[in-house]
Amino acid sequence: MQIRKVICVFVSFFIILRSGAQLNDSIVFSNLSAEASIDQLKTLAHELTDIIGPRLVGTPQMKKAHDWAVDKYNSWGITAKNEKWGEWRGWERGISHIDMVFPRSESLEGMQLAWSPSTGSKAVIADMIILEDAVDSISFLQWLPKVKGKFVMISMNQPTGRPDYNWEEFGTKESFENMKKERVALTEAWAKRITRTGLTNKALALALERSGAAGIVTSNWSRGFGVNKIFSANTKKIPTIDIALEDYGMLYRLTQSGNKPRISVRAESKELGMVPTFNTVAEIRGTEKPDEYVILSAHFDSWDGGTGATDNGTGTLVMMEAMRIIKKIYPNPKRTILAGHWGSEEQGLNGSRAFVEDHPEIVKNIQAVFNQDNGTGRVVNISGQGFLHAYDYIGRWLSKVPSSIKDQIETKFPGTPGGGGSDFASFVAAGAPAFSLSSNSWSYGSYTWHTNRDTYDKIVFDDVRNNAILTAMLAYMASEDPLKTSREKAILPNTKSGDPGIWPVEKKATRRGGIDDEK
Ligand SMILES: [Zn+2]
Repeated sequence: MQIRKVICVFVSFFIILRSGAQLNDSIVFSNLSAEASIDQLKTLAHELTDIIGPRLVGTPQMKKAHDWAVDKYNSWGITAKNEKWGEWRGWERGISHIDMVFPRSESLEGMQLAWSPSTGSKAVIADMIILEDAVDSISFLQWLPKVKGKFVMISMNQPTGRPDYNWEEFGTKESFENMKKERVALTEAWAKRITRTGLTNKALALALERSGAAGIVTSNWSRGFGVNKIFSANTKKIPTIDIALEDYGMLYRLTQSGNKPRISVRAESKELGMVPTFNTVAEIRGTEKPDEYVILSAHFDSWDGGTGATDNGTGTLVMMEAMRIIKKIYPNPKRTILAGHWGSEEQGLNGSRAFVEDHPEIVKNIQAVFNQDNGTGRVVNISGQGFLHAYDYIGRWLSKVPSSIKDQIETKFPGTPGGGGSDFASFVAAGAPAFSLSSNSWSYGSYTWHTNRDTYDKIVFDDVRNNAILTAMLAYMASEDPLKTSREKAILPNTKSGDPGIWPVEKKATRRGGIDDEK
């Protein structure tokens, strides 16, 4: 490693920083590779996930993260700024502490959902009640007064806490099939139980609140050991907490068997009024075609059950490290290279949609957008997103990337345009050539995506480094390409109903979010 570094520094010495001379792709590539650093990535990851923490829109941590990113970029000699695009209900998570206090004492694993109303510093102690299996909405209304002063359990009790892969490995075929049948039946029955209240999930929470419930208890299991998804509360006055499958199942069984479990819940939080929301945009100005843009894209916000390490801490690290090494090795790009760290992707791609709306002059001159947002793994898929000639330019750019960086990548051309999922879709909808650098899974869907276990320890730094190098190389190729990329759209395959496929349409950013009048 050390010897390689010395050689590379020596070689870099002879790279003329764009004084009209043609750059040598392979020298640039080997310098980019040598510069990308796992130590650097670990420092960034620690600062972002452990020190700042999760980055829910509207929280002080989100704002801190934006300021941190600007400072980091400036320390690397890259200009960066926070662009305000809207405002959101401000809220700050405090401690969640949940104990069973009867029939015996046990601390439970769980936490309040995002934007949950605070209990204040004094714990709420109350009995539990399970959402009634009412025959219809009238009998539900008759039952409703019984929730007064109680914590209401509104999630199904899962029949197993073992993920399916565990059943497949150790169970008999019959026992696995039986479990799945039981689970399907329970899931259908629970869905009916909710439907028969005559209310949506949100209206149900509010009806329970109006009837004097002490709080709402959910368990949103993510089908892996120890993982729950943590989204937002629907209540306005009483706390909404999520309890881990194991503890939720215990409370559920104790309630069913008439053992009257009682829990103590302290869930503190602060309401902060409406607060501004931002995108962080960093820029390395182009020297020949400064009005054409290569954009490195990754949403910056997260849900807050964990620390947003793989959604989208890792995408963030990829783009920041790519920018840092580009600035060192290729500081005078032909085209302008931007990094966009978008706010509020999780509530509907809001930061990137706002950027597309606010910067038509940039969007119409985009050479390429590279977005990464599905976990820590090595990039394994790139689709042409329905751009007819994407094969020409992406194929050309990738062909130059060393095989050690790209061997695992499968491409699909022209592909179909993504209508959502992550921020590239905001650009695709505007007809700009935007692509998703799609990672291999590392059990993202069940274990880290929006869960309480999306934490630093799940980051695979070797893969993140690989992705930073790949992104920097693609940015370099896109910037250097003598040709402007084509935006011609492929004729899309017919829909299932036989109608012609339609390109996704631009959607408006929510500029004022987290409040009832939001659409
Ligand atoms: Zn994401």
